[in-house]
Amino acid sequence: MHRHVSRVVAVGIASAALITIAMHDADAQPSTRWPIHSLDRPKPRIVKPPASSWTVPPPADAVVLFGGTDLSRWKKTGGGAAGWKIENGYMEVVPGTGGIETNDAFGDAQLHVEWSSPSPAVGEGQDRGNSGVFLMGRYEVQVLDSYGNVTYADGQAASVYGQYPPLVNVSRPPGEWQTYDIIFHRPRFDAAGKVTQPARITVLHNGVLVQDNVVLSGPTAHQRRPPYEKHPDRLPIGLQDHEHKVRFRNIWVRELGSESK
Ligand code: MG
Repeated sequence: MHRHVSRVVAVGIASAALITIAMHDADAQPSTRWPIHSLDRPKPRIVKPPASSWTVPPPADAVVLFGGTDLSRWKKTGGGAAGWKIENGYMEVVPGTGGIETNDAFGDAQLHVEWSSPSPAVGEGQDRGNSGVFLMGRYEVQVLDSYGNVTYADGQAASVYGQYPPLVNVSRPPGEWQTYDIIFHRPRFDAAGKVTQPARITVLHNGVLVQDNVVLSGPTAHQRRPPYEKHPDRLPIGLQDHEHKVRFRNIWVRELGSESK
């Protein structure tokens, strides 16, 4: 009898596990099932990126935010001159000078960014090649050296920080150029400030899909998931100074019109 009960309990636990797996499959990237920055959250599978890195030149209708020679389309986040340096066709974070943001504001957008983390790598976890691409200044696609570097899944390269790990880890080694192609749909608010449509993000990292139209719970933040607060329809795109000498090049954006909504 005792043995029979044990077996029933064991079968029950196994069934529960299967149901849990099935639910995860139906909802591939749940943001709220896991506590923020949970170390137990499964680490994305490592996928070897395509053999050679490439660049994606801006199409004719893109706004070139950085073409390799000047920061004329950028300012220090919050105002003032951008303090990052330019050399050899890229810009590089000058630690301590602060983040930078575009002079122009954008809403729904397709954004292309190329970046590379310092080589040789220094530090570990979040303290290694950390920067970030901030849509509307508040929704971060994480930039991090995640090549052979373990951190919490929702904070590694190409995560929507604190919400969604990437589907796979397709990071290149430090010093190599990597690409993000981001499709962003801004949140919509009603007149009272209530969210009628949350923000959505799709990301390709080195050409591989890593965020599949995920629905954001609100702005991204460290150790918390704050609620949405009504904001303008267009806001600057930001890049983070996390005290690491991350480089960026070839940044362009296409504003998405009514055909995309
Ligand atoms: Mg960051």
